[in-house]
Amino acid sequence: MKGSFVIGKIKGIEIEINLSWLIIFGLITFMMATNFFPQNYPDISPIIGWVLGSIMAILMLLSILLHELSHSIVSINQGIEVKKITLFIFGGIAQLDKEPDNPIQELKIALAGPAMSLLLFLIFTFIYNFLGYLGVESYLIAPLIYVSSVNLIIVLFNMVPAFPLDGGRVLRALIWHFQGSLQKATKVTSSMGNIFGYLLIFLGLYIVFNGNVLNGIWFVFIGWFIKQLSESSYQNTIMTDLFTKIKVSTFMSKNVISVGAHLSIEALVENYFYKYKYTSFPVIETDRVIGIVTVENIKTLNRDEWDRTIVRNIITPINNDLIVYPEDNVSSAIKKIFQNGIGRVLVMDGETLTGIVSRTDILNYIRIHSQLEE
Ligand SMILES: [Zn+2]
Repeated sequence: MKGSFVIGKIKGIEIEINLSWLIIFGLITFMMATNFFPQNYPDISPIIGWVLGSIMAILMLLSILLHELSHSIVSINQGIEVKKITLFIFGGIAQLDKEPDNPIQELKIALAGPAMSLLLFLIFTFIYNFLGYLGVESYLIAPLIYVSSVNLIIVLFNMVPAFPLDGGRVLRALIWHFQGSLQKATKVTSSMGNIFGYLLIFLGLYIVFNGNVLNGIWFVFIGWFIKQLSESSYQNTIMTDLFTKIKVSTFMSKNVISVGAHLSIEALVENYFYKYKYTSFPVIETDRVIGIVTVENIKTLNRDEWDRTIVRNIITPINNDLIVYPEDNVSSAIKKIFQNGIGRVLVMDGETLTGIVSRTDILNYIRIHSQLEE
């Protein structure tokens, strides 16, 4: 996510905090220090208010992190890699490498987060009751009561059966399991996500018009976010499902135009880029593909170097992110296309170049498919 920094790694998962989270962190601390403590405990020093406020904000951050970690660890146990957890203004996101393969997997991963939050709610409730029993000052206990209720709110909010919230994933897993169709399950639960999003937006507007502007806007934003997320993840699931069923060999473009490694850049630009209007070409040397040459590669040269430089000197050498095999499915090609930054992958049958899959091919396919099948 843009504007994020990595704070560490747990079990190989990068933990990243988005700058937007700092707003929430600041807001919680500020509200506690300037509002809650002075009003309820006028006798304590302002510094203690700020310290307790920030400790509370950190405990909330940790609660969200543990919720996401819990999803992630179950996911890794189910064989789905998790690269990153991002904490941002609306909570946290664990970035799973792929969608679950079956409903049972999905159910386990989805329930893991709320189960952790429920456990945290019970732990914090126990701690503040225990401290109260020991006679600890109530201004020290108050932040813990907040943290425990935040965890309960996380459970309740996430268990709303609206995809892609955890509850929506649980419901999707159940429909998927009992009806056998991932597409149908995703369609039902993401339209509930859409409805829930709109409900929050209307609720937010209602709150705004009743005078509580800040809280209202907050609801509107969360609602809008959930609505967006449910729409894009629906598209995503449907497309992933579609593209896992198609093999690269049937999808690829077969008439590949490649260039010789010893051609001058002058000739490359004139006879290939301007002629065929592609943004990159595979490069061949003695019948073998040695890399790809792109517009970006050419931009590393000055204009006056074009006639005395050959293609070989500026290519992006062949690597695993640039090639797929005819038997691979299209979704693995898409993954590489978005990873390699070149916008296309070469299809290799052993040593021979047999085809190419480009981002434009994928986008056109999606456009055609969505017009014909809706
Ligand atoms: Zn969750």
